[in-house]
Amino acid sequence: MQGLYKGIQKFQKIYFDKERESFARLSRGQSPDVLFFSCLDSRVNPNLLTQSELGELLIVRNVGNIIPPYISSSSHKICTAAAIEFALLILKVRYIIVCGHSDCGSLKALYYDEKEFADMPNLKEWLDIISHVKGRVVRKGNAATSEKRKEMTEKEHIIVQLENLLTYPLVERAIREKRVKLQGWYYEIGTGEVYAYNWSKKMFEKINGSRNKEKELAGPYLREPCLCPL
Ligand SMILES: [Zn+2]
Repeated sequence: MQGLYKGIQKFQKIYFDKERESFARLSRGQSPDVLFFSCLDSRVNPNLLTQSELGELLIVRNVGNIIPPYISSSSHKICTAAAIEFALLILKVRYIIVCGHSDCGSLKALYYDEKEFADMPNLKEWLDIISHVKGRVVRKGNAATSEKRKEMTEKEHIIVQLENLLTYPLVERAIREKRVKLQGWYYEIGTGEVYAYNWSKKMFEKINGSRNKEKELAGPYLREPCLCPL
């Protein structure tokens, strides 16, 4: 804990002092362009990962970056739904990113036995929202090793969360009207690489800065009549 107190002092004396103008501007409001869903994992830092500045990402973090479907019980979805309303209607963000990551402890817990959740009923209820991800991984096959199954689960989970996002009427409408674009990212902690889901090719592709064409990593997310090349 002492390290955190020292960190505050360091932040104020070194960082804040150099950035006084930025903080003065930020103190008057924010206009982030991106709503960013991420896991609460301590190794994932969206601003560090994207080298973005304060005020650029509106970040929602929870256990396993889960986006409950719109039809979920209100207690499950209320944080996500509130964030979507705030982001789309008040801040008018133009992008929504769902970022999963490698070695996700929340997704490992998907495979726990019932008894391992004895003292964690809330975690169990939360993970039950995505229990079908396991079945989708099995149906895709090729999970020859536990490592492979882990990676497949982490990636399939991102696709499911993108699909869940589309169950929110506000998101669906914003995409249909081309006001918002969605992307699913997979961050590999051990290599620093980030992959984006390509819906046309149904696979994750490495993000390579300007070589990636945004269009290639986007839609179609919606069923007919609107096949959006975003
Ligand atoms: Zn995680």
